[in-house]
This record gives sequence, C-alpha cells and structure tokens, in this order.
Amino acid sequence: MFNEKLVMIPGPTPVVKEIRDEMAREVQAFGDPRFVADFKAVIDGLGKMLNCSGKTFVVAGTGTLAMEMAIANSTKRGDRVLIVSHGFFGDRFVDICKRKGVEADVIRSEWGRIVPVSQIEEQLSRHRYAVMTVTHVDTSTGVCAPIAEIGEMMRKFPDTIYIVDGVCATGAEFEDVDGMNVDILFTGTQKAFGVCPGLLMLWAGKKALARRDALGETIPEYYCDFHKWLPTMDDPFNYFATPAVNLVWALKKSMELIEREGGLKARDVRMRKNALAMQAAFEELGLKALAEPCSRAITLSNLIYPEGIDDARFRSELSGEGVMVAGGLAAYAGKMFRIGHMGNIDVNTGVVVLGAIERTLEKLGQKGKLGAGVAAYLSKMA
Ligand code: PMP
Repeated sequence: MFNEKLVMIPGPTPVVKEIRDEMAREVQAFGDPRFVADFKAVIDGLGKMLNCSGKTFVVAGTGTLAMEMAIANSTKRGDRVLIVSHGFFGDRFVDICKRKGVEADVIRSEWGRIVPVSQIEEQLSRHRYAVMTVTHVDTSTGVCAPIAEIGEMMRKFPDTIYIVDGVCATGAEFEDVDGMNVDILFTGTQKAFGVCPGLLMLWAGKKALARRDALGETIPEYYCDFHKWLPTMDDPFNYFATPAVNLVWALKKSMELIEREGGLKARDVRMRKNALAMQAAFEELGLKALAEPCSRAITLSNLIYPEGIDDARFRSELSGEGVMVAGGLAAYAGKMFRIGHMGNIDVNTGVVVLGAIERTLEKLGQKGKLGAGVAAYLSKMA
C-alpha cells in the first residue's frame, strides 16, 4: 500500500485538505483583531447553526472535558443525577458524577437497544433529579437515542437539566438545541465536523446558564467553569486561557463547508443516505450491525464478525489494505469492529473502504464476496 491510510475509526475522521490547510497557517496572537474576529464568527455561527439562544463555548479540550464541564456547571455535591446509558460512553458519566460527590442513578439498555422514553419518564417521576444525561449516539454500540422525543417529555420536568452528549452525533444527526428542549449539548471537533481532535463545542441554553448562576459565585472546577469563559465567549478579545488558534480556524473552515452543503439538515440527509447504503453493503458481506435498525446511528456502524474471522488479524490485514477501523469495546472486544462514516467523506471513500473490507474478508477465507458490497452500496447511492 503506497497511499496514506484512511482513518475510518469513529473519530478522528478524515480531514479534507481545505481544513488541513488551516492547521498549517502561521499562528497569530490571540489578541490580534483578525483572530478575534474569526473566533467571534465561530462562536456566533455555532450558536446559530445549532439554534441555541443561550451561550456557545469553544474551549481547548476533548469530548470528555465537555462531559465534565456539563456536570460541573449544573450540579453540586449531594445532588442526584439520572444517567440514561446506551453503552460505554453513557457509563462514563457515572464516574464523572461519583468523583464530584453527585449521586448517580443509571438506567441501562441492553447493548444495541435503547431505553424506552416511558421508562425514563417513570424514573424521573420517582425523585427530584438535578440533571439527566443521554448520549445521542453511543459510539460503543452504534445506537442513536430519540433526543427530540425525550426533550418533549422533559417539558414535564422543568427543574431537571437535560444534557445531551452529541460527541458522535452533532454535525451529522440533526440537532436543534432550543427546538428539541435540550439544556446542554456538546461535541468535539474530531467527529462529524471533520476537524482534527482538540476542541470541544458546548451549547448551554438559558435554563442551564441560570442553573450555573444558582450554584453561586464559585464552583470547585476552574478551567471548565462557564463563568470563567463567558467574558471570552462574549468578546474573544478577553483572555481567560489561550485559545487553540489554528484549530479555531480549522473549525471555521469546517463550518463554511457545512454551510456550503446547505446546513445541518442537508448534512443529515447526505450522511443518512450514505449510512443506509454502507449498512446494506455490510449486510451483503455477512457483517451484522449490533444496533437494531429502528435506532441505528448514521455516524458509524458496529459490526459483528461472521464465524471464523479473527479480530486482530482482520484489523491488521485491513490496515495493510489502507483502512483503519476500531475494535469493539467491553464485552464486544474481539467480536466486533467499529467503522465511522461521518464528516466530510464522499461516495469514493465508501467504494475504497468497502473494496478493502472485501479483499480482507477474502484473504481471511470468506470467499465469493468480492464486489458484492460495493455493488450493494453503489446501487443505493445512485
Ligand atoms: N462521548 C462519546 C459518545 C464519544 O464517542 C466519545 C469519544 N469516542 C466521548 C464522549 C469522549 O470524547 P473524547 O475522546 O474526545 O474525550
């Protein structure tokens, strides 16, 4: 293989040249009026893009810091939180809450399925919860939660802050912060925005900002305190901590690409069509998706190996064919691989990836399928 490897893990995703070029620009002082204007355009543009009438935060750090930031600004020690978990990343909130001294009740689905909205509502009626968390797409299972429907139900619980982890969804699965009654949404740049890792984006609605105010002048956390960042987010000329200048530019370029293709709805339509076509191809190749079709994500597929395929060999051969994918997590380690199909990829990427998977399966003894996945894919992409 003479070409570069395609990064098809579920984040980071391939970064197109226009965005990469922003990373290579000569850095500017963060107080330079040119950068201040660019940073402001990013913050304001993201607020509009996700329809958030509260505040948008763009901070150096990853999705996990955003998870911590969401909990830090909406709870105090001794509060009770409801965690709706559809897998590994839903469970990550449990540890974050425990460390803060927040009591966490967890409703877990069987991996591959979602917790019914009626069950969430029942649990919310039992106690007074300061916060409820839901992962829009759990990357460990490929399950997509009905966040709009949950948001409607949440109108019955106005004292509970509704937090949505959008790390593997935002910029692909359509989201609307105000319209879906979400109080805090967050993601990282490395997933469906198609930018290098390193920035978090967090949208806090008015109710979430009021909750932070009610927690008092100081909270135990410093770097992720909304109050520390608000002056910068209102006017990026104000310094709190050094912005990741080139990543901000790269994100700005990614937002331009999103606008160019018609905004978030158009992006959802494009990625949905591609995901359904990819998933038809996987089925053709005998790779079974873990998530049920009714709640399957469009951003990635979590595929269970057919009998006789060894995980380590499959992924190493596939890497030799020029495509990197990720392994399964927890109980699915060794039994499944995870492949991202989000961000700025096109039909040519799909063909290359499926061709590489077919060659790998053939090499590992699953004969007779060469071209079958590509054909299924292309017929759905026509
Ligand atoms: N939430 C979800 C749904 C994720 O997929 C991930 C990362 N895969 C995270 C949170 C954590 O994000 P990060 O690795 O950027 O800290």
